[in-house]
Amino acid sequence: MSGNKRILIGASQPALSEGVLASTQKVVHEALERLGYGESYYELLKEPLRLLTVRIPVRMDDGHVQVFTGYRAQHTDAVGPTKGGIRFHPSVTAEEVSALSLWMTLKCGLFDLPYGGGKGGIICDPRTMSLGEVERLARGYVRAISQIVGPNKDIPAPDVYTNAQIMAWMLDEYSRIREYDSPGFITGKPLVIGGSQGREKATSLGVAISIREAAAQQGLAIKGLKVCIQGFGNVGSNLAEILDQWGALVVGISDVHGGIYDENGLDVPNLLDRRDSFGSVTNLFSKRLSNSEYLLQPCDVLVPAALENQITMDNVEKIQAKMIVEAANGPTSLEASNKLHERGVLVVPDVLANAGGVTVSYFEWVQNNQGYYWTEEEVNRKLESKMVEAVNKVLALSKSRTITPRLAAYMLGVQKYAEASRLRGWV
Ligand code: GLU
Repeated sequence: MSGNKRILIGASQPALSEGVLASTQKVVHEALERLGYGESYYELLKEPLRLLTVRIPVRMDDGHVQVFTGYRAQHTDAVGPTKGGIRFHPSVTAEEVSALSLWMTLKCGLFDLPYGGGKGGIICDPRTMSLGEVERLARGYVRAISQIVGPNKDIPAPDVYTNAQIMAWMLDEYSRIREYDSPGFITGKPLVIGGSQGREKATSLGVAISIREAAAQQGLAIKGLKVCIQGFGNVGSNLAEILDQWGALVVGISDVHGGIYDENGLDVPNLLDRRDSFGSVTNLFSKRLSNSEYLLQPCDVLVPAALENQITMDNVEKIQAKMIVEAANGPTSLEASNKLHERGVLVVPDVLANAGGVTVSYFEWVQNNQGYYWTEEEVNRKLESKMVEAVNKVLALSKSRTITPRLAAYMLGVQKYAEASRLRGWV
């Protein structure tokens, strides 16, 4: 990692706003109802089964001790261990972590991974902390949650502002506590300590496959497809690279400073070269669009890959894209997403489009368990087949039941947990 004071960790994506749990629950409720599961199922699945709050004292570089608050939510262990990332962000809340754990369940259900959803978070701002402080915080968090996590209990991974280095510190701390090597405790690790080929770009590759498959169903080819990406962090920049290699036209990219747009396509390799360690590049251009103008530019596909609640009732009427593919979690408000659907704009929901990350995390865990590692081609091939299957299942159900792809994805995602809960006698 470069620099000794600052740390580059993923995209600059803020946490989700209040109310996100309520809108997720609304769709889960409808999904269960349509599947014929009664209120008792909703009661069981509307919130995590377990939510642990921890307080973590950390010795800061100046000698004083700062106490951080963290959470770990485990939505359901009805089908197997829980699984999901850990985010380090100033606006983490218990509600947000709970909603995100429910989303993880839906992703795992939709992709038929043998997990329920989990999610962790620590209220902190790693951008203002030294590497040493981040390391001590990461290790302290693992000590605090060590009783409820483990390779067959709950498996963490990276999320907003956490990365492979932090996973390495967490793994090291966990292995010291247990006194044996346990690479399957965490995914998104560096390769040399049990990480998987392809994990770093997995979310972006999954988004790219979703775009290609969904576009094909609309009669649009990937070659020449005009795509606007919002956000140039890990997911957005890798996505731009993949789409460019596939012959799509990346007509817009944006970052924290604003957006740049050219209907003839941008020079992606050049932008990737000039991107700084915090994912910024548009500051090098004098002609920039504001974020709100940027989202309204004409394109075939708009990919929000940064902030939540970017497409809302305030701007939905002016969105010109023919398709929205949600690389970020929760970038379109539920109302706006329903509005787009009514207008005939295809919205590929987050639990489908961005599940490439957790899918390759599952492959990483399988490789750790068997102690035999796959090539990048093998990993990508397996991801490709899971993504294509999921996209086609969601879009087919959406068409046959004339419902939104989001509701279809939730129905496909939640069913396994309702059924497993019934079989276990929980409902
Ligand atoms: N944090 C990622 C997500 O939200 C990945 C989780 C994982 O790999 O377990 O899907």
